[in-house]
Amino acid sequence: MPTCKLCGRSFDTLTELYMHLSSECNRIPRSRRCPVCGNKYRSIRFMKHHLINEALIETRHMNYLISI
Ligand SMILES: [Zn+2]
Ligand SMILES: [Zn+2]
Repeated sequence: MPTCKLCGRSFDTLTELYMHLSSECNRIPRSRRCPVCGNKYRSIRFMKHHLINEALIETRHMNYLISI
């Protein structure tokens, strides 16, 4: 079951989990720097966008946000 590693909530599908991460998870770091790869972004919003998008394609970011 896809689980948000940041807040511990479980979801039926990965899609629901991604929607949770992009809209309502309040544990996503409020930082302009990505906690996984260290890249710095123009705003917190950009960093969050990066983190969630990378998680779709890249293992390190996925492991930070998601356990299946
Ligand atoms: Zn969460
Ligand atoms: Zn990153």
